[in-house]
Amino acid sequence: MDFEPGKREAEVGAIVEAELAARADAANAMEAADAGALRSTLLDVQAAVAGAGVDLAGGEGTAWAADLATCLPLARASTSLFLAVSATRQCATLLASRGLLPAPLAAEFRRGSVVGAVASSEPAGTEAPASLSGTPWTLAGRKSFVTNGPIADVFAVTARTPEGEALCRVAASRPGVTAGARIATVGLNGLAVSDMDLSGVDVDVDQVADGRAEPSPRARYALDADLTLSFAAVGLMQRVLQAAKAHAAGHKRGGRAIAKHQEVGFKLAEMLTVTHAAELLARRAAWMVALSGPEAATLVRCARVFCAEGAERVASGAMQVAAGEGFVAGNPIERAWRDAKGLAFAGTTVEVARLSIADGLLERY
Ligand SMILES: Cc1cc2nc3c(=O)[nH]c(=O)nc-3n(C[C@H](O)[C@H](O)[C@H](O)COP(=O)(O)OP(=O)(O)OC[C@H]3O[C@@H](n4cnc5c(N)ncnc54)[C@H](O)[C@@H]3O)c2cc1C
Repeated sequence: MDFEPGKREAEVGAIVEAELAARADAANAMEAADAGALRSTLLDVQAAVAGAGVDLAGGEGTAWAADLATCLPLARASTSLFLAVSATRQCATLLASRGLLPAPLAAEFRRGSVVGAVASSEPAGTEAPASLSGTPWTLAGRKSFVTNGPIADVFAVTARTPEGEALCRVAASRPGVTAGARIATVGLNGLAVSDMDLSGVDVDVDQVADGRAEPSPRARYALDADLTLSFAAVGLMQRVLQAAKAHAAGHKRGGRAIAKHQEVGFKLAEMLTVTHAAELLARRAAWMVALSGPEAATLVRCARVFCAEGAERVASGAMQVAAGEGFVAGNPIERAWRDAKGLAFAGTTVEVARLSIADGLLERY
């Protein structure tokens, strides 16, 4: 087990970093951008990431997990951008896992020229969970909080059938598919997230796959989303720690830089410790998923909880160090502080992740 960046990760990471530096203005403007501008920024960054060698069609089996560390420069640059690119990859990976990604569409994903989304979550207490019925198949129901919803070309949609679960590939242009307006959120607001209405959507037989074999499409997507969110949290911590350090080194009180005051120094030390621990745990979980190891699901949830809560701690520590300046809207620290809260419940919430860890612990350890 060696978590040092390998040659490929270092090379691809350097290209991703350089491509993003050239697009820093567009990435910073995402919070205020409209859906059209978001889509063109996303397509541009996807093409750059794909050109650097990241496989946005997910590769074979669990190969996608290894690429997450390679994308850390993207997570460090912008949490929203990393999650938007990841939603495209997650869509392709999930479709491919059930034979729903034909070669021409896979090639488009590999070029980064198509925006994907996964519609799995449903409103609580929903009267009408997304369901498939009849032959030919008809899809109906509502989905909630779909990342890339208003700007996607293709959706991977989980649905119920009388026999169990199914996965569908649905084009955004299909009659009956309506993505709602972009939801205004407190954090992660460089993302285009919306609800989705499916009313009487005809789905061809080659666009549906039986989802009953383990892992189910929902479980597979949850694992991918939780590992992705862990890396998003690590990137956020690395970014906000740099911002706090720069502030602490340059801001003087009592005749010296505040970094030289022990109370502030201890805070920075704690933030660095949590950030390193989170990165190690996320990398170990990704390594285990890539190997299809038996502990993978439990480790991913351990990383999910530690990284999400670590991001909240580190972002809050950075805000405390930057104090008044950090509290002014529009700086990287306050943005990270808002984003960190969203990372604790987008995907498996930290509460439900803890329950899953406890189950895994009873079974295996
Ligand atoms: C920014 C963002 C992007 C998202 N993108 C996508 C996407 O692309 N695709 C998609 O399918 N979904 C997406 N989601 C949805 C996301 O997966 C859900 O928000 C998440 O699963 C939590 O669901 P919920 O908000 O309905 O909360 P709920 O499930 O209603 O939970 C509410 C509270 O109850 C607790 N709780 C729930 N169940 C239990 C339990 N069994 N035991 C103990 N406590 C429990 C939770 O921990 C939480 O504190 C996104 C969400 C956000 C915020």
